[in-house]
Amino acid sequence: MSRRTSWVTHAMADQLLTTRIMPTDRAHALRRHANVRGMLRDSGLRPTRQRIALAEILFATGNRHVSAEQLHEEALTARVPVSLATVYNTLHQFTEAGLLREVAVDGSKTYFDTNTSDHHHFFVENENVVIDIPGDGLMIDNLPQPPAGMEIARVDVIVRIRPARGN
Ligand SMILES: [Zn+2]
Repeated sequence: MSRRTSWVTHAMADQLLTTRIMPTDRAHALRRHANVRGMLRDSGLRPTRQRIALAEILFATGNRHVSAEQLHEEALTARVPVSLATVYNTLHQFTEAGLLREVAVDGSKTYFDTNTSDHHHFFVENENVVIDIPGDGLMIDNLPQPPAGMEIARVDVIVRIRPARGN
């Protein structure tokens, strides 16, 4: 039922996952920090019970893209009593602390990516599925000159896809 299931079973996702090297942010994080508590502390966040519980759910499985609503559902399933507002706040705090990357598909759809490395995304329209494009899988040429005194910090590309129409 969950979007996560369709993400995992999506043929294209499977193909992408098997043809790329999975970034291991989480593995690095856990090597760097003994546990979630240490990870939060090192990121400048007080390891409150709620933050620990949500971080454990977020980072328990490999890299993924999760919405606040999805994480809220997972928290309730895991019997972590937390409001959707708290989930939102926590996700934004984690993002500011560099533990997550925000992927804004459009004004109403925001996903939080546990993979903070440089990479782009496919977005499957009507399915609300976000799939990684590996960082070196896209070449961007002829970027516009930023205004005087500015530099390009990062380029986020979202390639919108849909099932191919009958051939
Ligand atoms: Zn991603």
